[in-house]
Order: sequence, then C-alpha cells, then structure tokens
Amino acid sequence: MPEPSLPIARHTARSLASAASLMRFLMQPRDLTHPEACDFLAGNPQEMATRAYIEAVQQAVVPDSPAYYSYGPPWRPAVAAVTAALAERLGLELEPDDVFLTRGASSGLAMVLRALIDPGDEVVMMSPPWFFYEAMVLWESAEPVKVPLAGDTFDLDPDAIARAITPRTRAVIINTPHNPSGRVYPEDQLRELASVLERASARLDRRIYLLSDEAYARILFDGRRMITPALFYPATFMLHSYSKTLLAPSQRAGYLAMPPAMPDREQLRFALIVASLSGGSVPDTVMQHAMPELEKQMIEIAPLQRRRDRLVSELRRMGYLVALPEAGFYLFPRSPIPDATEFCDWLAERKVYTLPGEAFERPGYWRLSLTATDTMVDRALPILAKAIQTLSAAPAT
Ligand code: PLP
Repeated sequence: MPEPSLPIARHTARSLASAASLMRFLMQPRDLTHPEACDFLAGNPQEMATRAYIEAVQQAVVPDSPAYYSYGPPWRPAVAAVTAALAERLGLELEPDDVFLTRGASSGLAMVLRALIDPGDEVVMMSPPWFFYEAMVLWESAEPVKVPLAGDTFDLDPDAIARAITPRTRAVIINTPHNPSGRVYPEDQLRELASVLERASARLDRRIYLLSDEAYARILFDGRRMITPALFYPATFMLHSYSKTLLAPSQRAGYLAMPPAMPDREQLRFALIVASLSGGSVPDTVMQHAMPELEKQMIEIAPLQRRRDRLVSELRRMGYLVALPEAGFYLFPRSPIPDATEFCDWLAERKVYTLPGEAFERPGYWRLSLTATDTMVDRALPILAKAIQTLSAAPAT
C-alpha cells in the first residue's frame, strides 16, 4: 500500500505528534481573563511590566542613526553588554564574537541544532524535558533519545547518559535550573557529566556537544548560585533568555554563547551566523538597542520566593507531596490521584488552571506556576484543599 500523502513533511508530522499532548492541554478553551481565573498555567506575567522595563523599550525604539533599521551584524553595544554581564554572572571569560543575540532560548537552541545536526543524528535529552526539545530535534530529521532524571530529586544520571550515547550521538541537551522541578545542578554532577562526554567523544572520535538551556539562570531562590557546565566542558553552548528574567516572554530576546575553549570555534562562529541569518533568529532592532539597559534589570525574586514558600507550606499542610524548588517559576507536586490529567481537569472546572505531568513525560505529577498573583493564590488555596479531600477519598473507577 502506498503511504498516504501528507500535506506536511514526514519529520514535521513526527514533530507535531511529539507536541500533541502538550498542545491539547494548552489549547483547551478557558477564559484566563475571567476575574476568578487562577492562572498557574504557563509562567505568564499576571501583573503589569515595570516602568523601568517600559522606559528602556520606549527609549530604544527611537532610531539613532541611518543604520538603525539596517540588515547587518548585531548591535555591538548590545553584544558587549551581554558578554560582560554573562561573564560576570557565570565566572567565565567570553569573547564578544562567541556571543550571539537571539530571539530567546528556543531560538538559540534552534540555531545550534541547525548548525550541528545531520539527519539521522541522535540528540540525548533529559526527561522531563522542556516541551519543544523533541519537536525541534525531529524537525532536523534527527532522533531524540530520552534519559530520565532521577526519581523525585530530578538529578542528572551521568551513568544513564553514558549508556544512551551511541556512535550517532551528536549532542546532549540539559536544562539547569530545570523546568519543571526547579533543580539547579551542582558542580559534582556537572563535572561527572563533562567527564562522560569527554570520554565518549574520545572513544567515538566524534565531538559530542552539550546544549545547556539556562533560561532560568537568574531566577534563583535562597541565594543559590548558577553553575554553567561550560566551566567544565568546553564544547558547551549556553542558551539564555530575557523571557524569564524580565517576565515578558512575548517580547522575544535572548542570547547564546560558547566558551573560548570551544573546539573548532571559528567554524562554529560562521555556522551560527549563517544559521541565525537564514533562520530569522536575530532579535528586532528595538530589543537589541534596549539590551544594555535591560541587562541591568531583573524581576523581583523576593515575592516569587515568598509565594513559593507559602504555596509549599500550605500544600504540604493539606497533604500534598511537594518538593521545595531551588529556582525557576514552578512547583511540581505529586498528584493525589494516579491520573494527574483528571486532577487538573477537576481544578480547571473551578477555574484553577495548572498543567498535568502528562505534558512533561511525568504522569502522576502536576505543575503550578509561581507567576500567578497572590490574589490568585488566595482564591486557589481552598479549591486545592477541597481537591485533595474530595479526589483522594473517591473510590478508584
Ligand atoms: N527552555 C525552558 C526550560 C523553558 O522553560 C522555556 C520557556 O518556558 C524556554 C526554553 C523557552 O524560552 P524562550 O521564551 O526564551 O524561547
């Protein structure tokens, strides 16, 4: 039988299928603007942007030279500001030519994958992954290979990563701080990962690149420090974003950087420039001109941390099993019933919107975003208490 012809490429169809379960949850009809809606869904802003943020963008919108709207290289002052800030935060000397402005972490990731990956290559990623890693890898006609993060700690498992590597492995993606668990990988795990990748690259005579998604690098609780694996493994691309730092994810901007010890750096620089220009990954000129100012800004961590503490202690008091996240925008509790989708649907019927673990390859868990307002938390807490009482008491069907 001939294969039915699709209006889309086969790898596109696989890519869409990989995102289907998430999209089903995200696209459910719901009125997030309803006054009673409690939006714990997707880490979206629920409060107005700060004056400082708006003023930085307003000032940047005024052209300062005929070249303002030109095609051309990224705006050097923006690259310089980002390079200096990144170097200071991560303790890594970087060269401006190794820093690329992007339209966010996802755009940087797409650029790197386009530059590195051949059809049929394998890309190892941790599970739970960020929603679209798999779709992005499939879009390159490459194969995603999943390695589970450890049990309830969500730690890296370097031995399992070593076992997942084959002669076709081209890249490994990790995400630290990790969404949805809020785990920040400590130095010993990153060093172990680096030595696994060094040994495998030498054994296979093929460089395995590490893609380190650091979108939440500045959303750290309890004075924690972000450690990039690029300190220990030179073949690392670091992916950063303003989406979280400034809580304005639809205003696309971010950057990608590689350390000076990156092997074959000159060739990679050229590949990344072409990947960026051909893929439309360069941020709008307004965002580039705002970057030196935006780089100095940051959402307030204290209210987010207070909300984390309040929600964790209230949820535990109600009987939920929930870990204290070290970073990021989310709590990732266990569902009180085996079917987390049923649990999240029950909450959604009462206008408390969350995501079930099925969307993250972790059935039995659910995710709440800390970017909800305190008023939403006030409204949601009695519903969350009722949910665990009602649903855990109900006989299994
Ligand atoms: N990586 C992770 C782990 C994320 O959670 C997100 C967004 O939620 C992204 C990447 C996408 O970030 P950006 O908006 O910068 O493309």
